[in-house]
Amino acid sequence: MRKIAVLNQKGGVGKTTTVANVAAALAIKGQRVIAVDLDPQSHLTIHLGVDPDSFENGAYEVLTKSASIADSLVNIRENLWVLGANIDLVGAESELVSEVGRETILHEAVESISDDYDYLIIDCPPSLGLLSLNALAAVDEVIIPLQPHFLALQGLGQLLQTVTLVSKRINPSLKISAILFCMFDSRVTLSSEVKADIQNFIDNSRGTDCPWADADLIPIHVRRNVKLAEAPSYGKTIFEYEPNCHGSEDYEAIAGFLHDPASFEKNEETVEIEELLKEPAEEIMDDAVIETITEEDITESLTELVVETAEETQREIVTEKNTQPTETSEQPKYQIKEITPAETISQQTTEAKERSR
Ligand code: ATP
Ligand code: MG
Repeated sequence: MRKIAVLNQKGGVGKTTTVANVAAALAIKGQRVIAVDLDPQSHLTIHLGVDPDSFENGAYEVLTKSASIADSLVNIRENLWVLGANIDLVGAESELVSEVGRETILHEAVESISDDYDYLIIDCPPSLGLLSLNALAAVDEVIIPLQPHFLALQGLGQLLQTVTLVSKRINPSLKISAILFCMFDSRVTLSSEVKADIQNFIDNSRGTDCPWADADLIPIHVRRNVKLAEAPSYGKTIFEYEPNCHGSEDYEAIAGFLHDPASFEKNEETVEIEELLKEPAEEIMDDAVIETITEEDITESLTELVVETAEETQREIVTEKNTQPTETSEQPKYQIKEITPAETISQQTTEAKERSR
């Protein structure tokens, strides 16, 4: 069984949408798939059409060991099972605080059923607490969904550090297998720029022993599509709600890529994006001494990347906003007041660096 956690402690980046629709696409392909909801908000459970008050056992009962995982899975579609979440899960973190081995409870549960299914995909809450740690201990792969805006990289250092720590102390097989861009808007230059930055970062880690050294930047990006936002309130996957839309095309292709990257056929758009990425990636590859790069260098280069990107983007956004005709009824894409000042980010990353020393 392939075990995957979809994780980003940042809220609203597309974790739940990705788990629901990738799980459904794989099940349609004939794979036996378990979708695990580890978020007390129960969004995945609801998205898949299950009332959080309707099931007897779910993620909470498994984590508190009051039910086995086999007895807690609900079969919701052909080849698709859900381990549901409800509000009880809020209490799990505090209830388990004094439990020895509390980070590996889900891992042990999952091991007991690993021969019976092909995929287990976990929707993590937007935090790096005990629930996410249980997810990281239970899986071999992490997929990080990112929304390609200028603050996309903020918090990524902390996420990578957490994965590194878990891979060193609890789960040596843990790898970041992929980064996925969600809510991608190719008309915004920024999307491509953030994407190029991430690609450079991954390229610089190739050949090192850090958990993201073999990560793929998934060559299909999930385009912004209102149907994806509407489907959850009907308890439907995108394939049931609107099979002919960008959302279903993108998630079907992403599931195909994850299942068998070799069979993935590039379309015009992915070729175009690859071309776009080539230039900066090569520049950095020439300058970098890849063999001697250390984990500290990577963390440092990431924090620099965060600051640079934020500063650059801030300049770009200010210019973009200043050139907007004031009379137009169209809303600017970005609001100045939402921008976290680069100095704040700089200060945060310096503090993070100091803490990690
Ligand atoms: P949280 O951190 O709160 O769990 P999340 O990372 O799971 O959030 P989602 O719930 O998947 O994020 O997505 C956030 C919102 O954006 C939801 O309302 C969802 O329907 C919508 N959404 C997700 N992907 C897209 C997309 N590609 N186009 C348009 N809307 C989207
Ligand atoms: Mg979610």
